[in-house]
Amino acid sequence: MRVAVVGAGPAGVRAVEQLVRAGLAPIWIDEASDGGGRIYQRPPAGFRRDARALYGFEARRATALHAALGALKPRTDWRPDTLVWNLRPKARTLDLLHDGAQQAIGYDAVLLCTGAMDRVIPLPGWTRPGVTTLGAAQIALKAQGCAIGRRVVFLGTGPLLWLAAYQYVKAGVEVAAVLDTTRFATKLAAAPGLLHGPGTLAKGLYYTAWLRARRIPVAEGVVPLAIEGEESVTALRWLDAAGAEHRTVCDAVGLGWGLKPEAQLADLADIPFDFDPLQHNWVPRRDPTGRTSVPGVYLAGDGAGIGGAEVAERAGARAALALLEDAGHKPDAAQVVHLDRALRRQARFRAALERAFPFPAGLAAGMADDTILCRCEAITAGELRAAAAEPPTGPAPEVNRAKAFTRIGMGRCQGRVCGPAGAEVLAAALGCGVAAVGRLRGQPPVKPIPMPLATA
Ligand SMILES: Cc1cc2nc3c(=O)[nH]c(=O)nc-3n(C[C@H](O)[C@H](O)[C@H](O)COP(=O)(O)OP(=O)(O)OC[C@H]3O[C@@H](n4cnc5c(N)ncnc54)[C@H](O)[C@@H]3O)c2cc1C
Repeated sequence: MRVAVVGAGPAGVRAVEQLVRAGLAPIWIDEASDGGGRIYQRPPAGFRRDARALYGFEARRATALHAALGALKPRTDWRPDTLVWNLRPKARTLDLLHDGAQQAIGYDAVLLCTGAMDRVIPLPGWTRPGVTTLGAAQIALKAQGCAIGRRVVFLGTGPLLWLAAYQYVKAGVEVAAVLDTTRFATKLAAAPGLLHGPGTLAKGLYYTAWLRARRIPVAEGVVPLAIEGEESVTALRWLDAAGAEHRTVCDAVGLGWGLKPEAQLADLADIPFDFDPLQHNWVPRRDPTGRTSVPGVYLAGDGAGIGGAEVAERAGARAALALLEDAGHKPDAAQVVHLDRALRRQARFRAALERAFPFPAGLAAGMADDTILCRCEAITAGELRAAAAEPPTGPAPEVNRAKAFTRIGMGRCQGRVCGPAGAEVLAAALGCGVAAVGRLRGQPPVKPIPMPLATA
């Protein structure tokens, strides 16, 4: 049986572990040069920061995952530096790109563990050099041992905001401010549900208390106004919860409002998507075991809905067991019960986390007309609103029509960056809920691929 696993993050590693244990040798693909995924991303060979410095409280889990990865690679058809840029469900084929060369491979079953990316809300100045996502700021530190600036502001909401700020201060970088768009009262209201994950809650409280104890300026319930600068970032202007304006001098900004699933391959596989109002994300439909309505396609980890690294490990193992069962293997019933129970418990914690750090849809919807919304094509929020309202193009009642009229989401990122905020702007302009305007359809190639130049 030909089994392919896309992704070697926590979900992919634990999935492959089950498959190998059952005697299979899957094709295992990751576009990164090594496994570990986002949270346990490894620095290049030769870098010498130890696991404790790189992964903090997660060092033990990271080391365990890396050990599993190392043991599994030789027992699989391991393909690093390989992008899956297309999935053709009818032909059961993946299109790969490695080292500039294209290859198509067939599969009987494929498990997609493609992870997540930061969710962004554009604001004036966000395209200036010096502005990155929170995740990119963290990856710079984790994978390359460098910071995005000398005096950094972290802006957004979610656990990654506080974690990235903590990691930067620990690494010796000056953090000028941590600005959370969520009010303290909102987090407090979610506190009872957060007790479902006492360990994670304790770490979150520790990061915030640690930052405050070091007198890092922290504000909650903020409204960002603009990132200032000419050639690069010089300051961030923002309103505090009482409405007073502030200007924080900085040379870099890390921003992000939670994560969104990297689900383009699931989309190409013809899996239906649902809007999850709690996550405020479109997520591919799958059952709690990771099975989908498309025969032979399974999903696990953040690419199937944001759950975090611990959930990803369990979901990866669970989806592999579902795949094996469908292929005629008999799963260990006790292991299945254990995994299902743990995943249900973690789902309760996740729901509370989403309530504690809600996506500020109003902030996106209220974006100023002259803000560049789609940076690939340099389209403003005002141009999208005009397309929603006016002939000659006629009204754009959903995002794919708006894309055709305005070119929003048509550039290199294919709407992966501007899509969520663009949908909020369009929905507000049309006076409907964001789910009603739909989502940008995935298109191959799911990420940019090089085109060979014809030579005369
Ligand atoms: C930038 C970033 C930083 C994060 N940092 C933290 C953190 O410090 N702490 C924390 O608790 N959580 C963090 N998270 C969340 C955490 O990464 C996830 O919860 C967890 O890693 C999910 O595991 P996963 O296996 O589902 O996905 P991932 O770990 O994201 O792994 C997915 C893998 O799939 C590969 N992939 C994706 N698409 C393709 C494709 N088309 N072709 C080939 N390979 C592909 C990727 O290269 C990646 O290695 C972060 C998320 C992001 C996006």
